[in-house]
Amino acid sequence: MRILVVEDEKKIADFIKRGLKEEGYAVDSAYDGEQGLFLAKTGEYDLILLDLMLPKLDGHSLFKEIRKEKIFSPVIMLTAKDATKDKVDGLDLGADDYMTKPFAFEELLARIRAVLRKKENSGSKVIQVEDLIMDFSTHKVTRAGREIPLTAKEYSLLEYLMRNAGTVVTRTMISEHVWDINFDTFTNVIDVYINYLRNKIDTGHKKKLIHTVRGRGYVFKIDKV
Ligand code: CA
Repeated sequence: MRILVVEDEKKIADFIKRGLKEEGYAVDSAYDGEQGLFLAKTGEYDLILLDLMLPKLDGHSLFKEIRKEKIFSPVIMLTAKDATKDKVDGLDLGADDYMTKPFAFEELLARIRAVLRKKENSGSKVIQVEDLIMDFSTHKVTRAGREIPLTAKEYSLLEYLMRNAGTVVTRTMISEHVWDINFDTFTNVIDVYINYLRNKIDTGHKKKLIHTVRGRGYVFKIDKV
């Protein structure tokens, strides 16, 4: 899951970014409206946290601009003002939720989860491929009924692979969805994480789920063994 934080107060932006990264999200940040718009327009984000009072381009204008461009990433608006008018304006425009600063990080996290859950094919709480099940409500992963403990990053990577089961995902695709924009493409960190997942998911099982496609990337579950 990749999140964009558009917030000009660097301290707040960095605090949010750090917290979200610890939860396993890939996070990019922009410190003014123009930079935010530029990144948001790539359409790569599963969620955007958008401050309203921003230099160069305000949050409401940025929001209208991306919707005009048919970018439908869910948006949670952030504002320092506890102004009902701002809130109503934001929700009228179609923002998914709204938070007034200062807020507790836990609350932000809960709202992010709620918005992402709503987005996730509205309703389905689990994703299953063969005998591997990922439960979004409990964050638990089981294979053949046995629970597999995963780190936050492993969980994100596995989720991306499972959602794309049956299609080849390249390292670039993985880095864009699971890591943030500062990802160093010259490292082998993706391969390292794939190996962690293999050890946890496939070791001891006859049917392997994670497959390497030479020169292209990885594919989760192919039908021929
Ligand atoms: Ca601001």
